[in-house]
Amino acid sequence: MLKLKNINTFYGNIQALKGVSMEISEGEIITLIGANGAGKSTTLMSISGVVPPRSGQVYFMDRPIHTMSANQIVSLGISQVPEGRRIFPYLTVLENLDMGAFLRTDKDGIKKDMEDIFDLFPILAERRHQAGGTLSGGEQQMLAISRALMARPKLLLLDEPSLGLAPLVVKQIFEIIRKINTESNTTILLVEQNANLALKVAHRGYVMENGRITLSDSADRLLENEDVKRAYLGL
Ligand code: ATP
Repeated sequence: MLKLKNINTFYGNIQALKGVSMEISEGEIITLIGANGAGKSTTLMSISGVVPPRSGQVYFMDRPIHTMSANQIVSLGISQVPEGRRIFPYLTVLENLDMGAFLRTDKDGIKKDMEDIFDLFPILAERRHQAGGTLSGGEQQMLAISRALMARPKLLLLDEPSLGLAPLVVKQIFEIIRKINTESNTTILLVEQNANLALKVAHRGYVMENGRITLSDSADRLLENEDVKRAYLGL
């Protein structure tokens, strides 16, 4: 479904990604783990077109997307939930969800998807008229994920969904990630500092260090890998 071929991404003179290649098949949950500053967020932004790679190629369902605008990429079916739950704080929950569907014209489909989202996150249904900025951290993360789902993505890019959330809420978010993958057959690329949880939910994983992919394997094998245990699992 997605193929990154030797991509190099820069911020001015700083090279954040150095020859990154990876592949994701339809239906998979893939996690990208690594230390602070390794280049995980940059990888997501290079796919979504927010920070396009300077060289290398990105293919989505066999189409080259590395030269497309972020808007075009969303319309092909890739949605990103950025780090830090950037919802619209002064808009209500309903309005935030509407914003996620801004490229869609199928009113009935939008209504149905909103109902499905309220089934998935009943708390958002209760808070539908409340301003996004007044929700708790966990509820804002649920809203950020829901807003991305309103674009009906084939591929969902999640950047640190567990960041700053209480353990119980983190558990809920990971259960939802699994549900989104199995029930709506959404392929997911998950960036996480919480490597332990991420590898438990994912099928496969990539490890990133200093802008390079240093390891890739099934999630089960990465959980047993001594280097991964020492560096990322605190074991
Ligand atoms: P974290 O887990 O801390 O979010 P990350 O693995 O997602 O880290 P990136 O945010 O992709 O890492 O950053 C990769 C490198 O690019 C880092 O060295 C970072 O300092 C640099 N970088 C990121 N954003 C910018 C920017 N806007 N301008 C300059 N350098 C940047």
